[in-house]
Amino acid sequence: MKDYCLRATAGNGMIRAFVAQSTRLADKAARIHQTSAVATAALGRVLTAASIMGLTLGNEENSITLSIRGDGDLGGVLAVSDGLGHVRGYVHNPLVDVADRADGKLNVGAAVGRGQLTAVMDLGLKEAYTGTVELVTGEIAEDLAHYYMTSEQTPSVISLGVLVDCDLSVKQAGGIFLQLMPGYDDEIVDKLEARIADFPPISRLLNEEKTPEDILEMLLEPFGYEVTERHEIKFLCNCDRERVERVLISLGRDEISQILEEQGEAELNCHFCNEKYHFAKSDLEMILNEEGLR
Ligand code: ZN
Repeated sequence: MKDYCLRATAGNGMIRAFVAQSTRLADKAARIHQTSAVATAALGRVLTAASIMGLTLGNEENSITLSIRGDGDLGGVLAVSDGLGHVRGYVHNPLVDVADRADGKLNVGAAVGRGQLTAVMDLGLKEAYTGTVELVTGEIAEDLAHYYMTSEQTPSVISLGVLVDCDLSVKQAGGIFLQLMPGYDDEIVDKLEARIADFPPISRLLNEEKTPEDILEMLLEPFGYEVTERHEIKFLCNCDRERVERVLISLGRDEISQILEEQGEAELNCHFCNEKYHFAKSDLEMILNEEGLR
């Protein structure tokens, strides 16, 4: 089974819906970054959200960067997705440990703390679109709904869930986005609010072996809905040696000379996937000999 996201339209086009199962991508991220349970939950939620947001862009060339910066011990979370929902990301402090909430759930809000959420959408235009809002709870889903309302005037119901197993693997992860499109009426708002008032958490539904198809049916059946797209989503990093070399080159002549003198070699880690790139003495010398290096 692979992770995937369904896109649907409901209520005569007044509702746009996404339901994603993201268990494998959240688990892969946890394994790459060796995250604590609460960091796994935070990272899994942000990756799932970014992946869905990537699919809203409608073009695989476009990309979205979702960044959460808080004053809690987690430090922050960053995820980048392309327009196909291929997502990568990391947390600043993967080993963060905070006490669980009173209800026994992982306390993502406390780990994140107070701060800001920023979304940068690169739509291939001259300038990327950037929106920033203050965090509401640090639990990510509410913060994103606030972002959509404030930055895009789109009323949204967002649910993100990551169920972490005792062995720190991800047992289930997923996300739901329900968004009202321009031209919606009050009647549909009331109906939708009633529908989701006591809707179970998505991680619980997935754990009961409900599929994204089942969950869409549970949510949208009274509105009349149609599934319009199905996308495989996954954790995918696009780093390669050339890209990393460009980062090294951007340090400039002085810094590279200093690395060469002091260490004789360089090792760079990709923040997103932890892949290590080694540059031997001869590689660094070759970079220094390249023309145009400042
Ligand atoms: Zn990478």
